[in-house]
Amino acid sequence: MDVTAIIKKHLYVMDLPENDKAIIVNVTVSLLYFSYFCIAYFSQNVPTALQVSNLYYLQVTEILSITSILCLNILLGFILYTRKKNPTSTLPGNIQLYFIGQPLALYAILNGIPQLITGLLLGVLPFLGLILFNRKHVFYATCLMWFEIVGLAIAVSLGLLPNAPLYVDQVKPAQVPLAFLLVQILMSAPIAAVVYIMGHSLMQGIVLREKKILELSRRDGLTGLWNRRYLNEVLEHEIALTHRNLYCLSVLILDLDFFKKINDTFGHQAGDKVLLATTAILQKCARTTDYVGRFGGEEFIIILPNCDARMSIEVADRYRKSLEAQRVTVGDHVIQVTASFGVTTMLPTNTCQYNMQACLDGLINTADKALYDAKEQGRNCVKFRPLNENIQASI
Ligand code: GH3
Ligand code: MG
Ligand code: MG
Repeated sequence: MDVTAIIKKHLYVMDLPENDKAIIVNVTVSLLYFSYFCIAYFSQNVPTALQVSNLYYLQVTEILSITSILCLNILLGFILYTRKKNPTSTLPGNIQLYFIGQPLALYAILNGIPQLITGLLLGVLPFLGLILFNRKHVFYATCLMWFEIVGLAIAVSLGLLPNAPLYVDQVKPAQVPLAFLLVQILMSAPIAAVVYIMGHSLMQGIVLREKKILELSRRDGLTGLWNRRYLNEVLEHEIALTHRNLYCLSVLILDLDFFKKINDTFGHQAGDKVLLATTAILQKCARTTDYVGRFGGEEFIIILPNCDARMSIEVADRYRKSLEAQRVTVGDHVIQVTASFGVTTMLPTNTCQYNMQACLDGLINTADKALYDAKEQGRNCVKFRPLNENIQASI
């Protein structure tokens, strides 16, 4: 297996179901809380920690709150695990995001609510969240976090909670009026907003770019039709569906007649113009469920899902007639282009279902041989070749 496939399979967290991502975050956050707990517990025995911090809060507030949050988080992890069968649920993402924000809220309480760093840290939450979770979840969780911070600010200003309890020479609660705390919080809000917007646009950019790259990797540069690589993927998928749904799958391969002559007489650019005109006709004739692609040079392929042999020959003839009727103007000249068609059809009973590659090669090679038949028999016609005996019988 190549490296990109391994990365895609194991490391592409963004592609995981919401619930799985929530479980990963849950385990990470639990470890974080556990490390907080260890630091809080063992720092009681470090003399330098005691000089700068308030022992009472280390013992009571921190250890108790961390332990309770850790327990809640483990409980949430269990709920997430049991809900694994419901990957569309929006609940896990929301709750889990809130829990990612919890260490930040704790940090805010311990270091003082009216800190610029509080806003910055709360800004990091949506940034991380946007990478992992649904946009709506991140928005709700962020709102929840801000409600909590404003609530804490009110509690500090009312003297219910001390401000920055970890530090010995803290400002007394009575000296911190609510208006001051709220102004401080509002001052840090723009930072959080900027980080949120940055994260949001970054993620949107990544998603859009990925979509564009994927689309480009599937399209032919000149005509914009599906390219050979993507058509192989489509064929594999359609072969599997054909077996599952018990319907037929037809493949048409067409090659423009005497195209080299057009290039040699009118130039390469005129040849390109003919290819584009042909593309327009093929796209116009195709049904929405059909796949039209360029196989290379002046060779095109059309995949017709759920289409039997008789129907596919009729469809191919419709394409042929439309191409024959078109006229391409190059300078003072009007060029008529025709194409030869090779057609084959696969039935669900075809034995190649056990070997996808053999099935795929079989379809392409048979349609290609039928195309040669059409060329040999004078061009501008449709020739059919059966994939095996079953198809012959069904016509
Ligand atoms: P036949 O009827 O037997 O198919 O004859 P033909 O002349 O069409 O077949 P041949 O395979 O000899 O010629 C194909 C030509 O298509 C040769 C090549 O220069 C030209 N070609 C391939 N790709 C492109 C392209 O992207 N643009 C242009 N203008 N020509 C191309
Ligand atoms: Mg040709
Ligand atoms: Mg050719």
